[in-house]
Amino acid sequence: MKILVTGGTGFLGSNLCRHLLQGENKVICLDNNYTGNLGNITELMDNPNFEYLNLDVTEQWNISEKIDQIYNLACPASPKYYQGKHSIQTTKTCVYGAINMLELAKRNNAVILQTSTSEIYGEPKEHPQTESYRGNVNPIGIRSCYDEGKRCAESLFFDYWRYEGVNIKVVRIFNTYGPNMALDDGRVISNFICQALNNQNITIYGDGSQTRSFCYVDDLIKALILMMNSGKSFTGPVNLGNPQEFSIKELAEKIIAKTNSNSRIIFKALPLDDPTRRRPDISLALEKLSWQPKIGIDEGLDKTIEYFRKICFKE
Ligand code: UDP
Repeated sequence: MKILVTGGTGFLGSNLCRHLLQGENKVICLDNNYTGNLGNITELMDNPNFEYLNLDVTEQWNISEKIDQIYNLACPASPKYYQGKHSIQTTKTCVYGAINMLELAKRNNAVILQTSTSEIYGEPKEHPQTESYRGNVNPIGIRSCYDEGKRCAESLFFDYWRYEGVNIKVVRIFNTYGPNMALDDGRVISNFICQALNNQNITIYGDGSQTRSFCYVDDLIKALILMMNSGKSFTGPVNLGNPQEFSIKELAEKIIAKTNSNSRIIFKALPLDDPTRRRPDISLALEKLSWQPKIGIDEGLDKTIEYFRKICFKE
Protein backbone atom coordinates (compact mmCIF):
# COMPACT_ATOMS: atom_id res chain seq x y z
CA MET A 1 0.00 0.00 0.00
CA LYS A 2 1.05 3.62 -0.57
CA ILE A 3 0.54 5.53 2.63
CA LEU A 4 0.83 9.28 3.17
CA VAL A 5 1.67 10.52 6.68
CA THR A 6 1.28 14.29 7.13
CA GLY A 7 3.24 15.61 10.07
CA GLY A 8 5.57 12.68 9.46
CA THR A 9 8.72 14.16 10.99
CA GLY A 10 6.99 14.95 14.28
CA PHE A 11 6.80 12.89 17.44
CA LEU A 12 3.83 10.70 16.52
CA GLY A 13 4.37 10.91 12.76
CA SER A 14 7.93 9.63 12.82
CA ASN A 15 7.02 6.75 15.14
CA LEU A 16 4.09 5.92 12.83
CA CYS A 17 6.28 5.96 9.68
CA ARG A 18 8.72 3.55 11.34
CA HIS A 19 5.91 1.13 12.27
CA LEU A 20 4.32 1.31 8.81
CA LEU A 21 7.63 0.50 7.12
CA GLN A 22 7.76 -2.81 9.01
CA GLY A 23 4.96 -4.02 6.67
CA GLU A 24 5.04 -4.14 2.84
CA ASN A 25 4.22 -0.47 2.54
CA LYS A 26 5.56 2.52 0.67
CA VAL A 27 5.45 5.47 3.05
CA ILE A 28 5.42 9.11 1.96
CA CYS A 29 6.25 11.36 4.89
CA LEU A 30 5.24 14.98 4.53
CA ASP A 31 6.09 17.84 6.86
CA ASN A 32 6.96 21.54 6.85
CA ASN A 33 9.13 20.92 9.95
CA TYR A 34 7.62 23.72 12.02
CA THR A 35 7.68 21.43 15.04
CA GLY A 36 8.83 18.27 13.27
CA ASN A 37 12.49 17.36 13.08
CA LEU A 38 14.37 15.67 10.25
CA GLY A 39 16.51 14.00 12.92
CA ASN A 40 13.47 11.85 13.78
CA ILE A 41 13.53 10.23 10.32
CA THR A 42 17.29 9.95 9.71
CA GLU A 43 17.23 6.18 10.18
CA LEU A 44 14.33 5.86 7.70
CA MET A 45 15.93 7.85 4.88
CA ASP A 46 17.92 4.88 3.52
CA ASN A 47 14.81 2.72 3.22
CA PRO A 48 13.81 2.51 -0.48
CA ASN A 49 10.14 2.36 0.57
CA PHE A 50 10.37 5.73 2.33
CA GLU A 51 10.09 9.17 0.78
CA TYR A 52 10.17 12.56 2.49
CA LEU A 53 8.45 15.66 1.05
CA ASN A 54 8.91 19.14 2.49
CA LEU A 55 5.36 20.44 2.00
CA ASP A 56 2.74 22.29 4.00
CA VAL A 57 -0.82 20.93 4.25
CA THR A 58 -2.27 24.45 4.13
CA GLU A 59 -1.01 24.82 0.56
CA GLN A 60 -2.34 23.25 -2.64
CA TRP A 61 -0.25 20.50 -4.24
CA ASN A 62 -0.83 17.09 -5.73
CA ILE A 63 0.95 13.77 -5.48
CA SER A 64 1.18 11.96 -8.79
CA GLU A 65 1.30 8.47 -7.26
CA LYS A 66 -1.96 6.80 -6.26
CA ILE A 67 -2.35 6.97 -2.47
CA ASP A 68 -4.28 4.26 -0.58
CA GLN A 69 -4.27 5.65 2.95
CA ILE A 70 -3.71 9.10 4.48
CA TYR A 71 -2.88 9.68 8.14
CA ASN A 72 -3.44 13.40 8.78
CA LEU A 73 -1.24 14.30 11.74
CA ALA A 74 0.08 17.67 10.60
CA CYS A 75 -0.43 20.28 13.32
CA PRO A 76 1.63 21.64 16.19
CA ALA A 77 0.29 19.84 19.28
CA SER A 78 2.03 21.52 22.22
CA PRO A 79 0.43 24.67 23.67
CA LYS A 80 3.87 26.31 23.54
CA TYR A 81 3.86 26.02 19.73
CA TYR A 82 0.21 26.23 18.74
CA GLN A 83 -0.66 29.38 20.71
CA GLY A 84 0.53 32.97 20.56
CA LYS A 85 1.79 34.40 17.33
CA HIS A 86 1.39 31.05 15.58
CA SER A 87 -2.28 30.65 16.55
CA ILE A 88 -3.79 31.79 13.23
CA GLN A 89 -1.48 29.42 11.37
CA THR A 90 -2.63 26.65 13.77
CA THR A 91 -6.27 27.16 12.80
CA LYS A 92 -5.27 27.25 9.11
CA THR A 93 -3.33 24.01 9.53
CA CYS A 94 -6.35 22.32 11.12
CA VAL A 95 -8.94 23.64 8.69
CA TYR A 96 -7.19 24.17 5.33
CA GLY A 97 -5.11 21.08 6.06
CA ALA A 98 -8.28 19.01 6.59
CA ILE A 99 -9.89 20.31 3.39
CA ASN A 100 -6.76 19.78 1.29
CA MET A 101 -6.19 16.25 2.62
CA LEU A 102 -9.89 15.31 2.30
CA GLU A 103 -9.81 16.49 -1.35
CA LEU A 104 -6.68 14.41 -1.90
CA ALA A 105 -8.43 11.39 -0.32
CA LYS A 106 -11.46 11.96 -2.57
CA ARG A 107 -9.33 12.14 -5.75
CA ASN A 108 -7.47 8.96 -4.75
CA ASN A 109 -10.41 7.07 -3.26
CA ALA A 110 -8.15 6.69 -0.21
CA VAL A 111 -9.07 6.05 3.41
CA ILE A 112 -8.20 9.10 5.53
CA LEU A 113 -7.60 9.16 9.28
CA GLN A 114 -7.83 12.40 11.21
CA THR A 115 -5.88 12.76 14.43
CA SER A 116 -8.28 14.77 16.52
CA THR A 117 -7.69 15.40 20.20
CA SER A 118 -8.97 15.24 23.75
CA GLU A 119 -8.75 19.07 23.60
CA ILE A 120 -12.07 19.08 21.79
CA TYR A 121 -13.62 18.29 25.22
CA GLY A 122 -12.11 21.53 26.63
CA GLU A 123 -12.65 21.89 30.40
CA PRO A 124 -14.69 18.68 30.73
CA LYS A 125 -17.88 18.59 32.76
CA GLU A 126 -18.06 14.83 32.23
CA HIS A 127 -15.40 12.55 33.68
CA PRO A 128 -14.04 10.31 32.26
CA GLN A 129 -14.77 11.63 28.79
CA THR A 130 -16.78 9.47 26.40
CA GLU A 131 -17.07 10.16 22.68
CA SER A 132 -20.69 11.26 23.08
CA TYR A 133 -19.66 14.14 25.37
CA ARG A 134 -19.79 17.35 23.34
CA GLY A 135 -17.23 19.27 25.30
CA ASN A 136 -16.83 22.61 27.01
CA VAL A 137 -14.40 24.70 24.97
CA ASN A 138 -13.81 28.42 25.43
CA PRO A 139 -14.35 29.51 21.81
CA ILE A 140 -12.40 32.77 22.21
CA GLY A 141 -9.67 31.58 24.57
CA ILE A 142 -5.96 31.22 23.91
CA ARG A 143 -6.30 27.45 23.28
CA SER A 144 -9.22 27.85 20.88
CA CYS A 145 -7.02 28.08 17.77
CA TYR A 146 -6.21 24.41 18.38
CA ASP A 147 -9.42 23.22 20.07
CA GLU A 148 -11.83 24.88 17.64
CA GLY A 149 -9.51 24.16 14.70
CA LYS A 150 -9.63 20.46 15.55
CA ARG A 151 -13.39 20.60 16.15
CA CYS A 152 -13.88 22.22 12.75
CA ALA A 153 -11.68 19.54 11.18
CA GLU A 154 -13.95 16.84 12.68
CA SER A 155 -16.95 18.66 11.23
CA LEU A 156 -15.28 18.73 7.79
CA PHE A 157 -14.44 15.04 7.99
CA PHE A 158 -18.03 14.09 8.73
CA ASP A 159 -19.39 16.34 5.95
CA TYR A 160 -16.98 14.83 3.41
CA TRP A 161 -18.16 11.40 4.61
CA ARG A 162 -21.86 12.31 4.44
CA TYR A 163 -21.90 14.28 1.19
CA GLU A 164 -18.75 13.29 -0.72
CA GLY A 165 -18.54 9.61 0.13
CA VAL A 166 -15.01 9.85 1.56
CA ASN A 167 -13.98 6.88 3.72
CA ILE A 168 -13.03 8.58 7.00
CA LYS A 169 -11.65 7.57 10.39
CA VAL A 170 -11.50 10.01 13.31
CA VAL A 171 -9.50 9.38 16.50
CA ARG A 172 -9.29 11.63 19.55
CA ILE A 173 -5.81 11.32 21.00
CA PHE A 174 -5.18 11.95 24.71
CA ASN A 175 -1.77 12.92 26.14
CA THR A 176 0.93 10.73 24.64
CA TYR A 177 4.66 10.55 25.37
CA GLY A 178 7.78 8.63 24.44
CA PRO A 179 10.87 8.67 22.21
CA ASN A 180 11.12 11.32 19.45
CA MET A 181 9.50 14.01 21.60
CA ALA A 182 11.54 17.17 21.13
CA LEU A 183 13.74 18.41 23.97
CA ASP A 184 12.02 21.80 23.76
CA ASP A 185 8.53 20.39 23.11
CA GLY A 186 7.25 22.30 26.13
CA ARG A 187 4.88 19.60 27.34
CA VAL A 188 4.88 18.25 30.82
CA ILE A 189 6.68 14.92 30.45
CA SER A 190 9.52 16.26 28.29
CA ASN A 191 9.92 19.34 30.52
CA PHE A 192 9.98 17.36 33.77
CA ILE A 193 12.37 14.68 32.51
CA CYS A 194 14.84 17.20 31.06
CA GLN A 195 14.65 19.35 34.19
CA ALA A 196 15.17 16.31 36.43
CA LEU A 197 18.11 14.97 34.40
CA ASN A 198 19.81 18.38 34.59
CA ASN A 199 18.99 18.87 38.30
CA GLN A 200 17.04 22.02 37.41
CA ASN A 201 13.85 23.17 39.13
CA ILE A 202 10.76 21.19 38.11
CA THR A 203 8.17 23.72 36.95
CA ILE A 204 4.65 22.82 38.02
CA TYR A 205 2.03 25.17 36.59
CA GLY A 206 -0.67 25.88 39.16
CA ASP A 207 -0.73 23.72 42.30
CA GLY A 208 -0.22 20.47 40.39
CA SER A 209 -3.63 19.05 41.29
CA GLN A 210 -4.76 19.08 37.65
CA THR A 211 -4.74 15.61 36.11
CA ARG A 212 -3.81 14.00 32.82
CA SER A 213 -3.75 10.40 31.60
CA PHE A 214 -0.58 9.47 29.74
CA CYS A 215 -0.30 6.91 26.94
CA TYR A 216 3.02 5.49 25.77
CA VAL A 217 3.62 6.13 22.08
CA ASP A 218 3.91 2.47 20.93
CA ASP A 219 0.44 1.70 22.29
CA LEU A 220 -0.98 4.73 20.55
CA ILE A 221 0.62 3.93 17.19
CA LYS A 222 -0.84 0.40 17.27
CA ALA A 223 -4.28 1.93 17.81
CA LEU A 224 -3.87 4.34 14.88
CA ILE A 225 -3.03 1.44 12.55
CA LEU A 226 -5.90 -0.70 13.87
CA MET A 227 -8.31 2.19 13.37
CA MET A 228 -7.11 2.89 9.83
CA ASN A 229 -7.64 -0.75 8.88
CA SER A 230 -10.98 -1.21 10.68
CA GLY A 231 -14.22 -1.98 8.82
CA LYS A 232 -15.55 0.76 6.53
CA SER A 233 -18.66 1.34 8.63
CA PHE A 234 -16.63 2.39 11.68
CA THR A 235 -15.78 6.07 11.28
CA GLY A 236 -15.24 6.95 14.94
CA PRO A 237 -14.75 9.31 16.60
CA VAL A 238 -12.95 7.04 19.01
CA ASN A 239 -10.92 8.01 22.07
CA LEU A 240 -7.34 6.73 22.18
CA GLY A 241 -5.36 7.07 25.36
CA ASN A 242 -4.36 5.38 28.58
CA PRO A 243 -6.99 5.79 31.32
CA GLN A 244 -4.39 5.67 34.14
CA GLU A 245 -4.83 9.19 35.57
CA PHE A 246 -2.24 11.14 37.58
CA SER A 247 -2.04 14.59 39.06
CA ILE A 248 0.80 16.69 37.66
CA LYS A 249 2.34 16.76 41.15
CA GLU A 250 2.34 12.95 41.31
CA LEU A 251 3.99 12.89 37.91
CA ALA A 252 6.72 15.30 39.05
CA GLU A 253 7.45 13.18 42.13
CA LYS A 254 7.59 9.99 40.08
CA ILE A 255 10.06 11.50 37.60
CA ILE A 256 12.28 12.90 40.38
CA ALA A 257 12.37 9.46 42.02
CA LYS A 258 13.06 7.59 38.78
CA THR A 259 15.94 9.89 37.80
CA ASN A 260 17.43 10.14 41.32
CA SER A 261 17.38 13.87 40.75
CA ASN A 262 18.27 16.66 43.16
CA SER A 263 15.70 18.91 41.49
CA ARG A 264 13.18 20.71 43.62
CA ILE A 265 9.64 21.51 42.63
CA ILE A 266 8.67 25.13 42.01
CA PHE A 267 5.19 26.41 41.23
CA LYS A 268 4.42 28.79 38.36
CA ALA A 269 1.21 30.42 37.15
CA LEU A 270 -1.34 28.07 35.60
CA PRO A 271 -1.92 28.97 31.93
CA LEU A 272 -5.41 30.23 31.03
CA ASP A 273 -7.98 27.56 30.16
CA ASP A 274 -5.66 24.74 31.23
CA PRO A 275 -8.09 21.79 31.73
CA THR A 276 -8.34 20.67 35.38
CA ARG A 277 -8.77 16.99 34.60
CA ARG A 278 -8.71 14.60 31.71
CA ARG A 279 -9.18 10.86 31.37
CA PRO A 280 -10.42 8.90 28.38
CA ASP A 281 -13.21 6.36 28.50
CA ILE A 282 -11.79 3.82 26.04
CA SER A 283 -14.67 1.30 26.02
CA LEU A 284 -15.39 2.04 22.37
CA ALA A 285 -11.78 1.38 21.30
CA LEU A 286 -11.86 -1.90 23.22
CA GLU A 287 -15.17 -2.93 21.66
CA LYS A 288 -14.47 -1.89 18.05
CA LEU A 289 -10.69 -2.30 17.77
CA SER A 290 -10.01 -4.81 20.57
CA TRP A 291 -7.41 -2.29 21.71
CA GLN A 292 -6.28 -1.17 25.09
CA PRO A 293 -2.87 0.15 26.15
CA LYS A 294 -0.38 -2.39 27.45
CA ILE A 295 2.48 -0.17 28.66
CA GLY A 296 1.95 1.38 32.09
CA ILE A 297 3.42 4.65 33.30
CA ASP A 298 6.47 3.08 35.00
CA GLU A 299 7.66 1.14 31.96
CA GLY A 300 6.82 4.03 29.64
CA LEU A 301 8.63 6.61 31.75
CA ASP A 302 11.71 4.37 32.03
CA LYS A 303 11.94 4.11 28.24
CA THR A 304 11.34 7.83 27.80
CA ILE A 305 13.94 8.78 30.43
CA GLU A 306 16.45 6.54 28.63
CA TYR A 307 15.70 8.37 25.35
CA PHE A 308 16.02 11.83 26.90
CA ARG A 309 19.20 10.83 28.73
CA LYS A 310 20.78 10.14 25.33
CA ILE A 311 19.65 13.36 23.66
CA CYS A 312 20.06 15.68 26.67
CA PHE A 313 23.72 14.81 27.06
CA LYS A 314 24.53 14.59 23.35
CA GLU A 315 23.49 18.17 22.50
N1 UDP B 1 2.58 21.56 32.90
C1 UDP B 1 3.34 21.83 34.01
N2 UDP B 1 4.66 22.12 33.85
C2 UDP B 1 5.27 22.12 32.64
C3 UDP B 1 4.50 21.81 31.49
C4 UDP B 1 3.14 21.56 31.66
O1 UDP B 1 2.84 21.83 35.14
O2 UDP B 1 6.48 22.37 32.58
C5 UDP B 1 1.14 21.23 33.08
C6 UDP B 1 0.19 22.00 32.18
O3 UDP B 1 -0.16 23.25 32.76
C7 UDP B 1 -0.98 21.04 32.12
C8 UDP B 1 -0.31 19.66 32.18
O4 UDP B 1 0.97 19.88 32.74
O5 UDP B 1 -1.82 21.18 33.23
C9 UDP B 1 -0.17 19.02 30.82
O6 UDP B 1 0.43 19.96 29.97
P1 UDP B 1 0.90 19.59 28.49
O7 UDP B 1 1.32 20.88 27.85
O8 UDP B 1 1.87 18.47 28.54
O9 UDP B 1 -0.39 19.01 27.78
P2 UDP B 1 -1.90 19.54 27.65
O10 UDP B 1 -2.10 20.74 28.51
O11 UDP B 1 -2.05 19.83 26.20
O12 UDP B 1 -2.70 18.40 28.15
